[in-house]
Amino acid sequence: MHNGAQMAWVGVSFCFLLIFIVRTSYCFTVFNNETVTVSNNLNFTALFNYTTNFNSTVSAGSTPTASAKQTTTAKPVVPTKKRPKDTADAGFSDEDMGGTDKDLETKDKDKTQELECPPLGLESLRVEDTQLQASSYQRMGLGPHRGRLNIQSGIEDGDLYDGAWCAQYEDLDQWLEVDARRPTLFTGVILQGRNSIWSWDWVHTYKVQLSNDSVYWKPCMNGTEEAVFEGNQDPETPVLGLLPVPTVARYIRINPQTWYENGTICLRAEVLGCPLPDPNNIYMWETVQGSKDDLDFRHHNYKEMRKLMKSVSDECPDITRIYSIGKSYEGLKLYVMEISDNPGKHELGEPEFRYVAGMHGNEALGRELVLNLMQYLCQQYKRGNQRVVRLVKDTRIHLLPSMNPDGHEGAYKKGSELAGWAMGRYTYEWIDLNSNFADLNNIMWDAQEMEQDKSKISNHYIPLPEYYTSEEAMVAPETRAVINWMQDIPFVLSANLHGGELVVTYPFDCTRDWAPREHTPTPDDSFFRWLAAVYASTNQVMANPDRRICHYEDFQRHNNIINGGDWHTVPGSMNDFSYLHTNCFEVTVELSCDKFPHASELPIEWENNKESLLVYMEQVHRGIKGVVRDKDTNAGIANAIIKVEDLDHHIRTADDGDYWRLLNPGEYKVTVVAEGYIPSVRRCHVGSEPRATICDFYLSKMLKQRLREILANGGKIPKDLQLRLRALRLRKLRATTKAINQRRARQRKARALRRSF
Ligand SMILES: [Zn+2]
Repeated sequence: MHNGAQMAWVGVSFCFLLIFIVRTSYCFTVFNNETVTVSNNLNFTALFNYTTNFNSTVSAGSTPTASAKQTTTAKPVVPTKKRPKDTADAGFSDEDMGGTDKDLETKDKDKTQELECPPLGLESLRVEDTQLQASSYQRMGLGPHRGRLNIQSGIEDGDLYDGAWCAQYEDLDQWLEVDARRPTLFTGVILQGRNSIWSWDWVHTYKVQLSNDSVYWKPCMNGTEEAVFEGNQDPETPVLGLLPVPTVARYIRINPQTWYENGTICLRAEVLGCPLPDPNNIYMWETVQGSKDDLDFRHHNYKEMRKLMKSVSDECPDITRIYSIGKSYEGLKLYVMEISDNPGKHELGEPEFRYVAGMHGNEALGRELVLNLMQYLCQQYKRGNQRVVRLVKDTRIHLLPSMNPDGHEGAYKKGSELAGWAMGRYTYEWIDLNSNFADLNNIMWDAQEMEQDKSKISNHYIPLPEYYTSEEAMVAPETRAVINWMQDIPFVLSANLHGGELVVTYPFDCTRDWAPREHTPTPDDSFFRWLAAVYASTNQVMANPDRRICHYEDFQRHNNIINGGDWHTVPGSMNDFSYLHTNCFEVTVELSCDKFPHASELPIEWENNKESLLVYMEQVHRGIKGVVRDKDTNAGIANAIIKVEDLDHHIRTADDGDYWRLLNPGEYKVTVVAEGYIPSVRRCHVGSEPRATICDFYLSKMLKQRLREILANGGKIPKDLQLRLRALRLRKLRATTKAINQRRARQRKARALRRSF
């Protein structure tokens, strides 16, 4: 569809193109300040906002004395921030949110970020396989298309999916070539060695050549000499090499000069460059990928995250509340944004939903998407977007953007391209939070094996094991905080946002009998598959049938969903714990191939995930729900058990007697059992519309006379021992957590005191 305004714009563009072609067609990889200014005059600032800082980059880099060694130590694309002070846990005080601090920080940030160009997207897959060429390669699995920053190899070497581009020959004429497909202002190269358990290969030094046509190549110079860049000293740490003079070209080659003596020429790379208008293709620069939503698209460190949350809360005070569920090891608060029409309280019958992001601190996209989501919900609620209004009124939404803030701070400081694959994944104590929850699967499975009568073994609300509640247990403060949170709020549905792959996984994550991978479904497999499919089928990247696989596994074969155990076993995962210890159903979403996408990718990533994030939340309104009450007093009965025939997983009522049982459409026979009451049975129908069917229950008290009869016949009144044990162990966990936190706070204070002397 072309309207008049667009045609006029295209007309102007053509005029510009003529100038551009005249100016560039004869010059070879040289693009001076003058030419850049031309584009600026033509007011293409949105596309070329690098122009203002181009001068500073050139003058800094073109200093004749600047050596390649110096360039490799230059700062990454994302600005380095001051380490948050230990006292940063003071909450949302006015002082923290003061104007001067904020202004300073913003200016600081802009300066750093403007210095460099974004990655072309070897890592994010924005650069396609056909854009990558090489002088030679050992075999298909080590082809140029594998030479992407952070690409992961499978466990075995030798298949089609190995962890680098590896040249077939060991000489100085080997190169990996990237076709940017348009004139590009190249500013730097990031290099990494080969990802493999079995082979060690990396490149020590390399040269760079540039070309406009891939026939004539010009070496990248450092003054009068050819620039030699420092590469890697190990396989995993990415190293940045800034070009001494940012240069315009279409093609760039990385040309290894020396490499690890016991290895061969292998590398993974990313290229930094700002796209320029392509004189041969007017459409390329019309399609700037982005989002129409006015959200704060950038990476937020801890302080910036708090500020953003505060600003959302200020903007929408009636539907938001910020609270903290505890602290990280380093004392950073785990902030949650609650969004609901009645923030701060549970409403009878209203389901509670949560998103948890950043459990692996370096998987930064989830954190940003959750921050985007809170802004979006606030804005759209105010605008009267009916879908959002309904969601906010009918649901109590809890958003935890950063479960592992310590890990994120570390990765953030390195920046989106230089953090590597693992930095910031773990907590300060080097704990992987996704295997730090109590392994209740094996407790339940062991009990089932010991007991002949399966009905005697509880299939839900499994208590924590004794060892897990002690002060000495290696249970991270972050995990303790989340377990406590799960206890306080009757969550119904959750998703746990990760990154580094494109797939949605559903429980169980832990396999039976310690198999490394084995399909291990829950009794609710069909609903979990539905949940996973809801997210995966609405995610714009996952749903694209032409997408390239991220690393070495093809999840498209499974429609981008997989049982967690079928991928790789994880004992003590948050999903499994949530399902076996609470009523909450939870899946893991692996949001993108790139764990820490460059800030320039955030708008498009929001668009990729926006619908999925919304539609997934709406699934909390499926199945049946209702209130279990005392027939005589009408009071809600807490901890009543909701049993669905043929489903070996029960759920319980919340404190007020309300419950939610997620189910696919169908007819169900539902039995409700509560201590001291006569069980009640009824049929409940679930339709296909996204609205839970109301199924209330009224239970009659067991008569005293009947109780006496049971006792007289030597019978026992069934006591809910499991429930009591669960409550007892949680109390213990809370007590030890409190003791540990107090001790750590004292230690932090002492450390801070020592530093001040
Ligand atoms: Zn993860």
